[in-house]
Amino acid sequence: MSALTHLLAGRLWSPAGFAEGVQLTFAAGRVSAWDALPPRLPSGDGVFDARDAFVVPGLVDVQVNGGLGWSFQAQHRAHFDAIVAHHLAAGTTTFLPTLVTADETTLTESLAVLADYCTKSTSATLPGIHLEGPFLSPEKAGAHDPAALRLPDGPLLQRLLTAAKGQIRMCTLAPELPGSLELIRALAGLGIVVAAGHSAATFAQMQAGVEAGLSFVTHAGNASDWPHRAPRPEGFWGSEPGLVGSLLADDRLSGSVILDGFHFHPALVPPLAKLKAPHGLIITSDASTVAGCPPGEYSGGGLLATVHAAGYATSGRDGRWLAGSTITLLQAMQRAVTLSGLSLHAAVGLASAAPAHHLRLAQRKGHLGIGADADCLVLNEDLSLRAVIVGGRLTTDR
Ligand SMILES: [Zn+2]
Repeated sequence: MSALTHLLAGRLWSPAGFAEGVQLTFAAGRVSAWDALPPRLPSGDGVFDARDAFVVPGLVDVQVNGGLGWSFQAQHRAHFDAIVAHHLAAGTTTFLPTLVTADETTLTESLAVLADYCTKSTSATLPGIHLEGPFLSPEKAGAHDPAALRLPDGPLLQRLLTAAKGQIRMCTLAPELPGSLELIRALAGLGIVVAAGHSAATFAQMQAGVEAGLSFVTHAGNASDWPHRAPRPEGFWGSEPGLVGSLLADDRLSGSVILDGFHFHPALVPPLAKLKAPHGLIITSDASTVAGCPPGEYSGGGLLATVHAAGYATSGRDGRWLAGSTITLLQAMQRAVTLSGLSLHAAVGLASAAPAHHLRLAQRKGHLGIGADADCLVLNEDLSLRAVIVGGRLTTDR
């Protein structure tokens, strides 16, 4: 890893658009100056020349379960570095390692081990843990182990929070379950982002959740309801917005979609992005333990999965559920352009600025303004990755 002093950018991402011909100066791991390219360019080992390329801020993923066959459960602790390296090499410079539903012993041990790992990480920035489960709807379990799901339980939540030593940054639960509102209040009171997911909540139940502190919808449209017809107490069929409709209707809610081309239909990303602008829509990889694995059958880390040659993974429990994605966030961002037709500028916003805002990291992440962390990607004209820079250090150079 070599330290850089200058990055010469052909087109540099800023919130307002791509700026042409910019010299970024790095000091102490941050952006310290932003100038037009000077007539006499700096040279030497500390200069990276990307005058023929796009430079965009490092990607921020709110949900990474693992990769290469390993999860962030304690049993795989020897492989955490490899998982992080896999995502970092693809430009995910900040992310939330995510734990899915498991029995209490597995969860508490994993939270404790992962919390220590997050605070010690020196490669990617791991600003905390995303706990997805175990307070989820059995109706919407998806690839989560239905036998390990739990009803909302305050004392259990306290034990999980204690094990995690303050490192839980986001928690996904089903707000319609009895006792959920108390959990939402407790989590939101600690500054933890509370998300609805794996949930069959109605619009009314979502509104109650939002009043209690819920602010997010996890992988909207997957393991959650789209607007649909539902019986009303009066006896006729009415319309029920579900989680996706609640996200559309409520400005207080932000949400993520998994943009691998299989989970969330790419055609719906541009209208949703427009509706939720500027920061209310986030794309995530929801990379599963089998991200980066060749086709085949896998088990471990709370997941049984089959990786298919077409690039998706299904749950081995009955094969009917997508089991997280096999991609990295860079691929989701590229697909926002190639499959959804967004501009590169907009796609970067969904994969970097918006999640940084959501995780309350926007001062230092999700942009390359002065004072921001010097985390950035150099992309070729075809959006392929040329280089990854973290804290001003070149970590990947292809
Ligand atoms: Zn999920």
